[in-house]
Amino acid sequence: MNDTPATLLLVENDPENAQNISGGLRPSEALFRMMSDASPLGILVSDDLGHCVYSNAAYQKISGLHSEQILGTHWSMAILPEDRERALAEWQEAVSRQTPFKSEVRFLRADQRTIWTRLNAAGMHDGVEAGRRVQTVEDISERKAAERDLRLSEDALFYEKERAEVTLNSIGDAVLTTDLAGQVSYLNQVAEKMTGWPSVEALGRALPEVFNIVDGATREPAVNPALRAIEGGKTVGLAADCILIHRDGFESSIEDSASPIHNRDGAVSGAVIVFHDVSVSRAMALKMTYLAQHDFLTDLPNRALLTERLSQAMKLANRRHARAALLFVDLDGFKHVNDSLGHVIGDQLLQSVAGRLVSGVRDTDTVCRQGGDEFVILLAEVEQPADAARVAEKLLAACALPHLIGGNELHVTMSIGISIYPDDSDNMDAVMQDADTAMFHAKDCGRNNYQFFRAEMNTRAMRRLGIENGLRRALKQAEFQLYFQPQIDLATGKMTGAEALLRWQDPENGLVYPMQFIPIAEECGLIVPIGRWVLHEACRQVCAWIDSGLCAVPVAVNISALEFCHKDFLKGVAQILQDTGMPPAFLELELTESVLMHDAESSASVLDALKAMGVRLAIDDFGTGYSSLSYLNRFPIDTLKIDQSFVRELASDADNPTIVSAVIGMGRNLHQRVIAEGVETRAQFAFLLKHQCNEGQGFLFSQPLNAKDFSARLSHPDLLFPS
Ligand code: C2E
Ligand code: MG
Ligand code: MG
Repeated sequence: MNDTPATLLLVENDPENAQNISGGLRPSEALFRMMSDASPLGILVSDDLGHCVYSNAAYQKISGLHSEQILGTHWSMAILPEDRERALAEWQEAVSRQTPFKSEVRFLRADQRTIWTRLNAAGMHDGVEAGRRVQTVEDISERKAAERDLRLSEDALFYEKERAEVTLNSIGDAVLTTDLAGQVSYLNQVAEKMTGWPSVEALGRALPEVFNIVDGATREPAVNPALRAIEGGKTVGLAADCILIHRDGFESSIEDSASPIHNRDGAVSGAVIVFHDVSVSRAMALKMTYLAQHDFLTDLPNRALLTERLSQAMKLANRRHARAALLFVDLDGFKHVNDSLGHVIGDQLLQSVAGRLVSGVRDTDTVCRQGGDEFVILLAEVEQPADAARVAEKLLAACALPHLIGGNELHVTMSIGISIYPDDSDNMDAVMQDADTAMFHAKDCGRNNYQFFRAEMNTRAMRRLGIENGLRRALKQAEFQLYFQPQIDLATGKMTGAEALLRWQDPENGLVYPMQFIPIAEECGLIVPIGRWVLHEACRQVCAWIDSGLCAVPVAVNISALEFCHKDFLKGVAQILQDTGMPPAFLELELTESVLMHDAESSASVLDALKAMGVRLAIDDFGTGYSSLSYLNRFPIDTLKIDQSFVRELASDADNPTIVSAVIGMGRNLHQRVIAEGVETRAQFAFLLKHQCNEGQGFLFSQPLNAKDFSARLSHPDLLFPS
């Protein structure tokens, strides 16, 4: 240690003491050194130039320098160069203002370590030397480190908070927290917007006030999810169909969950609710459900929804020991409207019918469109089957009124089948099937009526299906045969022609007559290939007779409506004539009045085309349909066949002779052949002869014969005349 006088230590803020010491009470240098070295503060005394004249042990320890290394150096020598300039400036200022110097700077120790220090200095007024200053130096590295740690953790906290805030505000979900008492403690921006409560106003309020939710179905306040999460200590989902009511009363569907918040000790300290607006997706889901359950054309429930309602209705009927009725409705001849007037008109007609059906039943009933022209009506509660009958009657009447579509009045009727639950069947599929079966029965009963299901209809339906399958097989396996019934010139007894009549040689059921299978073949469309077979076979047979030198006669073939309307009908006839080499004049086609009058205009052109081929045309069952005489006149008809019902009644019914004689007269005037069908008795024969009917066909002359027997008759035509 150098020779610095002890008097140096007198500091200006203790002038009294300074005076005392300089006034002669000087302690020994040893005492001073002892005292100075005992101080934990570093002490440094500098002269007027700032050069060190004294340093204590603590200063040397702090700076890591020996006393000798310090003495004579500038007081700022130990300061880290980066901090030195600032320290000197502050020193200068303190000197010039004569204020104490205070600074916190880093020391660069001799071992190159950096430590933080706090410096305090003041001028010495010890009367020894002017300009001296004493400086204390405190190692504050620990405090600085603590401060830095604190600042770092504050920064980290701030960053975390900021990040959470930004995250919470940038996610689409609303977030709201409550304390343990259920008071709102936080809302993010989405939550503010959705509840209508700004944070400043919401904080501290009871949750239900801010987060006002009700059950969408019952409108009752919904259970507070935060409380449930707090009580249960686990995440809970919000009740389905939850509605949030905005502060303004505006409602939105929401969805999501609430979770408890735990403190450091793991105890529940509140809850967080996360929710989002599902109004759009819920509306979309509702729309999708609606579309999946409704028919796009009529907006009526579809089959899927009907099934659901029917199942409910059945349960209800069980509980109340009541009944439910199912009505299967099918429009009559809708296909014709669609084909002739186009789909646009067809669609409008379906919509109009749908409207009438809906207004004909109660709100609690369901009118559904099955597709096409089929509707199903569920009467959810009926006391008696008669109630369903009344509804059916009402619907038939409502539908039959003209439908005004595209400026036209359209007329359409429908056939209705009714099944009653649980009377008819006790399961859904069967109830539907029963109503369907009953509807087909209504069609068979002449359309424009309703029929209740009866068990025997099922047997019939099964039989029908059996026949349909049998017919397909018959076509493939050549089970059809043609029989020929002679037609006789009543005056001469000569055979003038024959009618080809179809028979089905069924391996199981024996010979089946056309009335048992033709209607079914017509319904399922098989009549077209069957008819083509008949035509081909008839032509082939006639040619065979001609070829074998027999005195062949023209053959009449019956043509069904479906065949006649088929787009390839004309082409088919021409093709068959060509393929078989049949002279066209040997072929007569029999058509009924209803077939011809159904679409008289197009019938006329088909008939003209047939006529142009050289084929003969007959009207079958004449008198049973409704012919417009003006059309009859225009159609190129060769033969009128008086229906056998008129011939049968000739003896008993007083009016019939007039009808028969009128038809005979008309045919003669129109230069048409008139054939009386079903001539069974001599009396009928006599009447016809007397009224100059040209020809007759019936059991009196001959039964229909198979090809072999008929060939025999062809060889002996005269035998046909009744003796
Ligand atoms: P339809 O064209 O009026 O044929 C006359 C029917 O009267 C035949 O019955 C015939 O056997 C029957 N018949 C003939 N003479 C008498 C008689 O003196 N008394 C009685 N009671 N009946 C007589 P079938 O063969 O059973 O045919 C019934 C109907 O089936 C035919 O009536 C015709 O509409 C239809 N049909 C027959 N063959 C064919 C065919 O190849 N194609 C089509 N589309 N229909 C056919
Ligand atoms: Mg016929
Ligand atoms: Mg007939």
